[in-house]
Amino acid sequence: MLRVVVLGAAAGGGVPQWNCGCPVCRKARSDGGELQSTELQSTQASIAVSADGEHWYLINASPDLRQQVTATPQLHPKAGQLRHSPIAGVILTNGEVDAVAGLLSMREGSPFTLYAHDRVLAILRSNSIFNVLNEKNVKRQAIEIDQAFEPALPDGSPSGMEVLAFAVPGKGAWYLEGKAHPAGGDGTGDTLGLRILDKSSGKYFYFLAACARVTEDLKSRLAGASLVFFDGTVWRDDELIAAGLGAKTGQSMGHISMSGDHGAIASLAGLDIGKKVFLHINNSNPALLRGSEERKAAEQAGWQIPPDGTEITL
Ligand SMILES: [Zn+2]
Repeated sequence: MLRVVVLGAAAGGGVPQWNCGCPVCRKARSDGGELQSTELQSTQASIAVSADGEHWYLINASPDLRQQVTATPQLHPKAGQLRHSPIAGVILTNGEVDAVAGLLSMREGSPFTLYAHDRVLAILRSNSIFNVLNEKNVKRQAIEIDQAFEPALPDGSPSGMEVLAFAVPGKGAWYLEGKAHPAGGDGTGDTLGLRILDKSSGKYFYFLAACARVTEDLKSRLAGASLVFFDGTVWRDDELIAAGLGAKTGQSMGHISMSGDHGAIASLAGLDIGKKVFLHINNSNPALLRGSEERKAAEQAGWQIPPDGTEITL
């Protein structure tokens, strides 16, 4: 059985974002009253997954990781141990700030393995602050595209999970825009999708926190999955511009919109997916607001917008 905990579902900045006065962020602070405010708050996107209920792998390490670990009993040190963490590894799907900055909160000497495409490992190598993760304790293992692997537990025994990474249409990290990528190359590997399979039951789910468009190849991969986490950054492509929050479209940031003829909801309709969950939802996205037309449309189409801490088993 695979257990998955949604540690956070928000895009970069979270909800509320520190410097944002948009309607969603205002409501998440206080405007909607205490209860509504708590329901609306969302930390930056990351999930934890385990095949044995004891050892956990994080998919991406968000800047909110410390808060997420504190809020998640499954990730606390074992009772009676002075130093321990159930986190056996971290799997990175891209090098964006909201996917890697949490690694800096994991610097206190506990052993775990860091899995990422070599393009992302090259970014970490080129930023010396990540050397706080001493390679004696934190092994870095390159993920090869389209080559399934089974992460090992700290004692070398198998984790019971198989991870398959594949390239997804997307963008490199924005802080490298217009700059030389430390790994050079054509960008393949900057954005990964993952299939995580439970070796004992054969069930699997997909994780795509970033995806610029749904290709036919991607549709055929996702069809029949028990669970898909999918990029829910924006409701519509020009929403940041329309709200006066920025100059970028969803597409220019490498993110598909939820709505529209080529959006995620329409593109993944009718694919026989057990559970569809949006992740990496920007605070500008009105689907975050319970009772909004956009939220209703997403839910009617079978999509879930998960509160932090949501646990799903398959
Ligand atoms: Zn906002």
